[in-house]
Amino acid sequence: MGMAATGAVLAAGSARAAIARDKPIDVIVLGAGVSGLNTAALLEKEGLKVLVLEGRQRVGGRVFTLLDQPGYPEMGFNSMGEGYGRGLDAAKRAGVEMVDVGPRFYGGPQQEVWLGGKRLTREEWARSPLNPFPDALKGNLPGEVVGKLIAQHNRLADFSTWNDPANTALDISLNAFLKAQGLSDAAIRLANDLSPYYGQSSFDVAQLMMEFNDGFIKTQMAAGKRTLAVRGGNLNLPIGMAKLIKGDVLLGKEVVAIDSQAAGVEVRCLDGSVYRAGRVVCSLPFSTLRTISMTPGFSGAQAQAVQTLGYNALTIAFLTASEPFWLSDGLSPAMFTDDQLGTILPQRFGADPNQISGLMVQARGNLAAVWDAMGKEAALAHVVSRLETLRPAAKGKVKGAALFSWARERFTLGQIAYFKPGQVTAFAKVMAAPLGRVHFCGEHTAEGARGLEGALESSERVALEVLTA
Ligand SMILES: Cc1cc2nc3c(=O)[nH]c(=O)nc-3n(C[C@H](O)[C@H](O)[C@H](O)COP(=O)(O)OP(=O)(O)OC[C@H]3O[C@@H](n4cnc5c(N)ncnc54)[C@H](O)[C@@H]3O)c2cc1C
Repeated sequence: MGMAATGAVLAAGSARAAIARDKPIDVIVLGAGVSGLNTAALLEKEGLKVLVLEGRQRVGGRVFTLLDQPGYPEMGFNSMGEGYGRGLDAAKRAGVEMVDVGPRFYGGPQQEVWLGGKRLTREEWARSPLNPFPDALKGNLPGEVVGKLIAQHNRLADFSTWNDPANTALDISLNAFLKAQGLSDAAIRLANDLSPYYGQSSFDVAQLMMEFNDGFIKTQMAAGKRTLAVRGGNLNLPIGMAKLIKGDVLLGKEVVAIDSQAAGVEVRCLDGSVYRAGRVVCSLPFSTLRTISMTPGFSGAQAQAVQTLGYNALTIAFLTASEPFWLSDGLSPAMFTDDQLGTILPQRFGADPNQISGLMVQARGNLAAVWDAMGKEAALAHVVSRLETLRPAAKGKVKGAALFSWARERFTLGQIAYFKPGQVTAFAKVMAAPLGRVHFCGEHTAEGARGLEGALESSERVALEVLTA
C-alpha cells in the first residue's frame, strides 16, 4: 500500500480508485469542509481528477454535530435561511432532508437577563435602572441591540460593495459606529463586549463587515421565514457531499507544506506523505494556513491578510438535566448573564418539540479564553457550579456532557473569520488571489454571502478560476 493510501479513504470504490490512480491528479483540494467538498464535486463534474486531503478524522470542518448527545447538538453550523440557494441545492444533491427548526429555535421560554446575580425578565429589564440603553432601545435585550442598530443605520446602499477598497473612510470599528448611535461605554459593554458575536470586543471588529452581514441577513429575511437545518444533524450534509466525490477523500492528512512550481504543485503532510498535482485549491482557514510553509511565500496585502485576519473565540458547553429544574424554580432556562456562566440557550431538538433536550452554554470573546485556560473537565465543572449558584434548583440535576472550544481546535483555531477595523479596505479584495498554482476558497473569502452559503459561493468562484486558469 503506497503512501497515498495510508489515510482513511472515505469515498471511491477500490476498483475505480485503482484504475484512476494511473491518471495524474489534476487538482488537490485541501480541506473537506463544505467549501472544499463542493469545489471537488464541481471540478469532477467538469472531468477533472481530484484528490481531497483533510487533517481531521472526519469531514465537515465547521459543520459539526454531536451525534451521540440528545437532540444532536450543533457545535458548529446551525441553520440556513430560505435564501441559501447554494446550501439548499447542496442538501438536495447530498440527499439530506431540510427541516424548519425555527419554531424550536424561537419558541419556548423567553430569555432573561442576569446581572450581578440578579434576574430580570424582559419587562423588568426595560424599566430597570441597570439598563444603560437609550430610551428607544430599552425594550431590547442586550443581545438584540447591535443587530437592530446596524439594521436601522446600515451605511451601505448596496451591501455587496462592502469590500470596495475605496471605502477607506467607512472602515471604522463597530465601537465607533455604536458610539455614533449614542451608546455609552456601559451600553456597548452590555450590548456587545460581554459576549461579542465577532472578535474580542467592539474595538476589534470592522463595521463594514457588520454591514455586509446585515445586508446578507436582510436578503435571507426577504427570501422567507423558515430556518432550515438537516434532519438528524447538520453533519449529515458534508457526509452526504463527500459520498458524491469519485476521487479519494483522505482523512488524517494534516498539510504542512505547499510548494508551487512551474510544472505543478507538491503538497506535504505531517505524516511524511507527498502528493503532486497540476493545481491546488486550499480551503483552509487563514488561522491554520498561516502555520503552513508556502513556496513561493505570500507577499504584500495578501501576506498581511493570511497573518492577521481575525478568528473568533467561541467555546460551547452542552449540559443535560436529569430533572427540569426550571419548572421547580419557575424561571426561564434561557439566560443572558454577565457571569462566568455565559449565555444559556435551551435546546428543544428531541422527539417532542416542547421538551428541552439539553442546554447549550456559550462563552464568547474573553470569557471563552477564561474557560479554555481551565481545561475541558474543569471548565465544565465551573459552568455547572456557576449555574447551581445562580439557580439553586439546578443543584445535582445538571451534568456537563460535552465542551468544545473552537479557538483550541487545531484545524480551525477560531470559529469564523472576522475583519478588524481597517482590514476590509486593506486586503479583502486581494486576499484570495491565486499564488502560483495555488487557489483559495473558504468562508473567509466570500464576497456576496455569509456563513455556509458564503463557503459554497467561494467554491463556485474558485472552481471557475481553476477551470479558466
Ligand atoms: C459555532 C458555529 C456556528 C455557525 N453557525 C452558522 C449558521 O448558523 N449559519 C451559517 O450559514 N454558517 C454558520 N457557521 C459558519 C459555517 O459553518 C462555515 O462558514 C462553513 O462551514 C465553513 O466552511 P469552509 O469549508 O469554508 O471551512 P471549514 O469547514 O473550516 O473547512 C476547512 C477544512 O480544512 C481542514 N484543515 C484545516 N487545516 C488543515 C491542514 N493543515 N491540513 C488539512 N486539513 C486542514 C479543516 O479540518 C476543515 O475540515 C457557523 C460556524 C460555527 C463554527
